[in-house]
Amino acid sequence: MPTNKPALTAPVVTLSRHRLTTDGDGVTTLVIFHGCPLRCRYCLNPYTTDDRTRITPMTPQALFDAVKCDALYFEATGGGVTFGGGEPLLQAAFLAQFAALCPSWRLTAETSLAVPACQVETAAEAIDFFIVDCKDTDPAVYKRYTGCDNTRMLENLRLLLSLVGPERIRVRVPLIPDYNTETSVIASEARLRAMGVTNVEHFSYVRR
Ligand code: SF4
Repeated sequence: MPTNKPALTAPVVTLSRHRLTTDGDGVTTLVIFHGCPLRCRYCLNPYTTDDRTRITPMTPQALFDAVKCDALYFEATGGGVTFGGGEPLLQAAFLAQFAALCPSWRLTAETSLAVPACQVETAAEAIDFFIVDCKDTDPAVYKRYTGCDNTRMLENLRLLLSLVGPERIRVRVPLIPDYNTETSVIASEARLRAMGVTNVEHFSYVRR
């Protein structure tokens, strides 16, 4: 029996094709979603939190149709589709429907984990690899830098570790000019490893 339920869509800002190494293994297409609960001071993609940004609401099928032209690249290199933003886990139900359409492409999400736990649970079923930008594990640093509390991020990281295991997670610990220090980066890494994280990446944010 037909229903009047509207099709699930997600707000897509843009797609970036033929990316190598920056967003995961192999050749990837990056899908940038609109919307993020955080307000990071040095956000690289501020248009993803700007209400004036033009977006395209896409169904999972429409996105699949838009990215499938690169299927041969994905399959030959072990690549696939990387979801970023913005915060892709806000679109967890969409990701699950998209994953169900895909062949053996590798699906990666770049996430802050600053989302409700149910979104993490749904994404854990759909996504092969998670790149978590934790900002800093110190609550005061995190609050000053993002405007939010980091309890949710830490709880969700524990949840994600329990759901998918550490081999499917990389946690990025940035040095954030004027907000944290080398010492707090080292302290964050120690806290993360104590939680069970095994893949930690260091890098520096660029002030804009
Ligand atoms: S989590 Fe990412 S997209 Fe969201 S405000 Fe921070 S840097 Fe920007």
